[in-house]
Amino acid sequence: MGKVLMIGAGGVATVAAFKIVQNQDVFTEFMIASRRKEKCDALVKAIHDKGYKADIKTAQVDADNVEQLKELFNSFKPELVINLALPYQDLTIMDACLACGCNYLDTANYEPKDEAHFEYSWQWAYKDKFEKAGLTAILGCGFDPGVSQAFTAYAAKHHFDEIHYLDIVDCNAGNHHKAFATNFNPEINIREITQKGLYYEDGKWIETEPLAIHQDLTYPNIGPRDSYLMHHEELESLVKNYPTIKRARFWMTFGQQYLTYLDCIQNLGMSRIDEIEYEAPLADGSGKSAKVKIVPLQFLKAVLPNPQDLGENYDGETSIGCRIRGIKDGKEQTYYVYNNCKHQDAYNETGMQGVSYTTGVPAMIGAMMFFKGLWRKPGVWNLEDFDPDPFMEQLNKQGLPWHEVFGGDLEL
Ligand code: NDP
Repeated sequence: MGKVLMIGAGGVATVAAFKIVQNQDVFTEFMIASRRKEKCDALVKAIHDKGYKADIKTAQVDADNVEQLKELFNSFKPELVINLALPYQDLTIMDACLACGCNYLDTANYEPKDEAHFEYSWQWAYKDKFEKAGLTAILGCGFDPGVSQAFTAYAAKHHFDEIHYLDIVDCNAGNHHKAFATNFNPEINIREITQKGLYYEDGKWIETEPLAIHQDLTYPNIGPRDSYLMHHEELESLVKNYPTIKRARFWMTFGQQYLTYLDCIQNLGMSRIDEIEYEAPLADGSGKSAKVKIVPLQFLKAVLPNPQDLGENYDGETSIGCRIRGIKDGKEQTYYVYNNCKHQDAYNETGMQGVSYTTGVPAMIGAMMFFKGLWRKPGVWNLEDFDPDPFMEQLNKQGLPWHEVFGGDLEL
């Protein structure tokens, strides 16, 4: 019995929905709810058009509104809620889960709307409440965060006595043939990339200017790509859970064209997240206008390509992994574990590009781990708190096979 409610009907949710439908032995009842019901219905149609038979319910819900969420949860009574809306909704959905006795899973940590800042403290603060309610909350079950932590946990369990240096490396060597587009929600993506960099060394967090540190790293089947040091949320839990780590960093590749556009967007003020007043014509055709408040970055999102529409012409692949140095049986060991995912393969299977695919597949697998009783313990948990082995096994089966290199040059 696996009764699951997924919130959101965007790129990541689309992939997770396809994967849930492919695993109906685990997921026996399925509802998709989002801000716009028509998007949920279109997703169900896309699944049926691909030839899958599944009875999927849909609903409208504003996930910023705890009362609306409670009403929905009380009527459908899901055992697990998968949150694939935006990071802004994490806490309202967690509150509704607690009120209605539902378990919880997401792929990105909470961010307040008015501050481009992410950290786990807000969600970790729910640990006691979930524990007392006997409910499981699984945080950050996408690729990074998500698989990156399962990779690290797998390395710690099987290949190291002590991990000393951890570098998470995330390369998108794909080309969507647009001048500028983001691979997941543009608002969340641009907020993340324009933040200051942060890494951990010798017990301290070191801040850098945004994208200030970069170097070429070589990715399998891709070659060298300029990779930029960024802050990423999973570092926060990994350095706590593996106290032998001396340094932990996160790197992401960006092309020069992307960075030039990003620079322009910032210089033009279009990445601002504060409200500005704007005199706008009314949509009722009356010819009248009214003063409205808009957030420039939200307006920019409305004119940028929708990441969900990038798949058709996207070629190339992603390569995301962990490069680890540490000690095994008294000897220094290096280890690189990674997955490469081709955008066209993702598109052919789900209609979405590789970045949505590499996030939606792990979200489904995390939910599967929960329903199989393998990842079920009261409290609020990050991925490395669970046994990585059954999750790693499913990555190979569900479309994200991984590879290992022992004793190679980590370049870092
Ligand atoms: P999208 O913008 O494509 O999808 C978000 C969905 O949530 C949309 O369907 C949207 O509705 C819906 N939504 C937004 N606000 C509300 C609300 N208040 N109530 C109900 N539904 C709402 O984003 P993505 O699919 O690209 O990303 C989804 C999540 O995945 C994000 O949190 C992102 O940060 C995370 N992510 C995680 C990664 C990882 O590796 N861990 C990598 C990539 C993304 P509408 O369609 O009407 O706008």
